[in-house]
Amino acid sequence: MYNMDKEIFDFFNTDLQFIHGVGPVLASKFNEVLNGRRVLDFLLHAPSYVRPREILDSVTNAQTGDTITISLMVKSHKRGGIFRGRRRPTQIVCADKFAAPVTIQFFNVNYLDYWTEKLPIGKWRIVSGKLDYSHNSGAIINHPDFIETPENAYKIPKHQAIYPSGEGLTQKTFSNVRDQIFKIIHERISAYVCSERMLEFLDALEHVHYPETDEDLTPNGTYMAKLAYCELFAHQTAIAINRRNRQEQKNQRAIRTKKYDLMDKFYSILPFQLTNAQQRTIDEIFADFRKPVPMMRLVQGDVGSGKTMVAMAAAVKMAESGAQSVLLAPTDTLAQQHYSKLAPMCEKLGLVCDVLTGRDKGTSRNEKLISLKSGRTKIAIGTHALFSDDVMYKDLGLVIIDEQHRFGVQQRTNMRTKGCNPDMLALSATPIPRTLSMTIYGDMDISIINEKPAGRIPIKTSKIPALRVNALIDRIAPQIEKGAKVFWVCPLVLESEMSDMTAAQSRFEELNTRFSHVGLCHGQMDKKERDKVMAQFADPDSKMRILVSTTVIEVGIDVPSATIMVIENAERFGLAALHQLRGRVGRGSQQSYCVLLYSNKITPDGLKRLDILCETEDGFVIAEQDLMMRGVGELLGTKQSGWIQYHFVNYREHRDLFKLAQTAAMNNNSDDEIWAAQLRQIFGCSVTAGA
Ligand code: ADP
Ligand code: MG
Repeated sequence: MYNMDKEIFDFFNTDLQFIHGVGPVLASKFNEVLNGRRVLDFLLHAPSYVRPREILDSVTNAQTGDTITISLMVKSHKRGGIFRGRRRPTQIVCADKFAAPVTIQFFNVNYLDYWTEKLPIGKWRIVSGKLDYSHNSGAIINHPDFIETPENAYKIPKHQAIYPSGEGLTQKTFSNVRDQIFKIIHERISAYVCSERMLEFLDALEHVHYPETDEDLTPNGTYMAKLAYCELFAHQTAIAINRRNRQEQKNQRAIRTKKYDLMDKFYSILPFQLTNAQQRTIDEIFADFRKPVPMMRLVQGDVGSGKTMVAMAAAVKMAESGAQSVLLAPTDTLAQQHYSKLAPMCEKLGLVCDVLTGRDKGTSRNEKLISLKSGRTKIAIGTHALFSDDVMYKDLGLVIIDEQHRFGVQQRTNMRTKGCNPDMLALSATPIPRTLSMTIYGDMDISIINEKPAGRIPIKTSKIPALRVNALIDRIAPQIEKGAKVFWVCPLVLESEMSDMTAAQSRFEELNTRFSHVGLCHGQMDKKERDKVMAQFADPDSKMRILVSTTVIEVGIDVPSATIMVIENAERFGLAALHQLRGRVGRGSQQSYCVLLYSNKITPDGLKRLDILCETEDGFVIAEQDLMMRGVGELLGTKQSGWIQYHFVNYREHRDLFKLAQTAAMNNNSDDEIWAAQLRQIFGCSVTAGA
C-alpha cells in the first residue's frame, strides 16, 4: 500500500466503538445495519434522502404530515397524567408569529418537568417535527425532533440526512457519529499529507453525508456519480487483474492426449437435433478447449433452452482424453434428475457416470469415492458433497455448475482447487441483459442460448384478480380430469403475516376437498418427505395432479407433463422469479398455461409488470424490463447469491459508468494503479493470486 494515505486508511479501519459516543453496544448495532463495524463501513453507507428543516413562517403554510421547523411562543402548559383511568398527554400550547395555534404534545408524562423547562411559558422556541392535526387541539407536533432557543437555532440541520437505519439506531445517533468521523477526517487531512485523489474522494463522501437536497443523493448527482464511478473502477480493475492472472495459468489439458473417439457417437445417440444456439455454444466451448488457458465460461439460456445437453457435450469431450467432469447441481433433487437423464446416455457411450449427494453415506459413498479417485468415474453428478475434503479426483478437467447464481464466489474458488485449474462452465437461467452480465461476470466469457428447441408451444399467460380464484378452479377442473398436472405456487409471505407454510397448507386443504391426490410441499417439511412428494408429482404413472407448494419447487425441476402453473400473489415476486416459475411448464408437447393471481393490493405499476409477463416469454426482454422498472436487486434475488452488493452504484442509472469504468480498468494506466489498489481496498474487492 502506498504510504501517503496511510493515516486515512488507519482511520477507515478503526472500529466504530472507538468513535466518541459509540461504544461496543452501539457498534454492534451499527454492525447489523452496515454489515461491518469500521469507520469505513459507515462512510460507505449513504443517506437515502434529505429532510429539509428550514424555518417556516407560519404553520398555516404547512400541511398535515409535513416535517416543519417553526418559531413558537409558549403560551401555557397542560400537565398530563392519568385522569379517571385514562392516560392523557402533556400539552404545551403555543402560537406562531401570526398567532396561529400549535400544540406540542408529549406522551411520556414522566418527563414532564424536562419538557416544561425546555419550553418555558412566555419564551420563543424553535421547534422541529412532524405536523399532525387533531379535532380537539388543531395543529399538533408530537414529540418534536428538535427544540432549540432562537440563539441555538443553528443546531437544527437545515437539510437533515436521513440514513437507512435499523433497530436501536436513531437518526441523531447517525448524525452524531457522522459529525465525529468527519471532524477526525479534517484533523487528519490537515495534519498529514494526503493524495489529491483521496482528498477528492473524501470530499465527495462528505457531500453525500451532508446533502443539501435530494439531488445530492440521486444516482446521477455529481458526488454520488463520482463515488459510483470509484466503486465500479475498483471492481473492474479487480476483474481485469483476475482475468489476466487466469490467462497466465497453465492448464492440465495441454498435456492430455485424445484417447477415445466419443463425439461422433454422442451426436448419433442424441434423441433430438440440437438447436443452432446449442451447437454454437458447444462450438464456443470446444474452441476454449483448444486454448492453453483454463476455460471460464457462462452459458446463459432461458429455462428449457436445453443447457444440460450442452454441458453433457462438454463432459463427453473431456472424457475423450480420459479426464473427469463434475456436474454440480444446487439441490439433491436436481442432481438426481440430471443423473437419471444422463446416465443412460453415458451407458451407451461406455462412460462411467455416478451421482454423489449429501444422502450418500457409509459403504456406498466409499465405493463412489474410490471410483472417483481411481479415475474410473468420468462424469460425477452431485451437490457440493462433490467438494467435501475427502473427495479426490484422479484428473478433474471440467467443473460444470448448474444454476450458477445459487453458488457464491467463494464456492467457485473452492471448486477450482480440486483439480489443477480445471475448466469452468457455469449454466444460468437467470437472464441478464448483456451489457450487465459483461460487467457482473467480467472475468467470464459468455455464451447465450437464445433459442428454444423446435416444437415448443408458447405458454399462454394470463393475470386474474385473486377474488376470482374459485372461477379459476372451476375452469381447470375439467383439464385435471383429463390428466393435466398443475403446479400451484403459494405466495411469498411477508414476515409479519402468517408463514409461507400456513398459506400453502390452507390452499392445500381447500384444493384437497375438491380434488383427490393433491400434493403439498413446503420449506418446513422434512427434506426426504419433500423430495418424495416431488418425485411422486413428477412420476408419469402417479395419480397426483396438483402440487401445492411454496417457492421451494426447485429451479430446473423437470416435469414435462405439467401444463398449468398457478402463482398466487404474483405481485410479490420479481419478474425474473415469475419467469423462472413459469418455465416449469411448457416443456412437453401440450399447450401450457400460466395464471398469475394478484391481490387487490397490487399497484398500477405492479399490473404493468404482470402485463410484461403476459406479453412475452423472452427472458432477456423480461430481465431488461424488470431492470428498468425495479432495479437489479430484485432481478438477481441478491443477498444469498454472492452477487456484488454495491454501495453507491445503481445498476439502472449507472449503466454508462459501467462501461467507462470497464474501459478505464482494461487500459490499465500505471498512473492509476496505486489509486485503483486503494479503491479496491476501500470497496473490498479481492483479487486472486497470480500464476
Ligand atoms: P434448461 O436449459 O432449462 O436446463 P434442459 O436442459 O433441462 O433445459 O432441457 C429442457 C428439456 O428440453 C429437456 O427435457 C431436454 O431433453 C429437452 N431438449 C434439450 N435440447 C433439445 C433439443 N435441441 N430439441 C428438443 N428437446 C431438447
Ligand atoms: Mg437446467
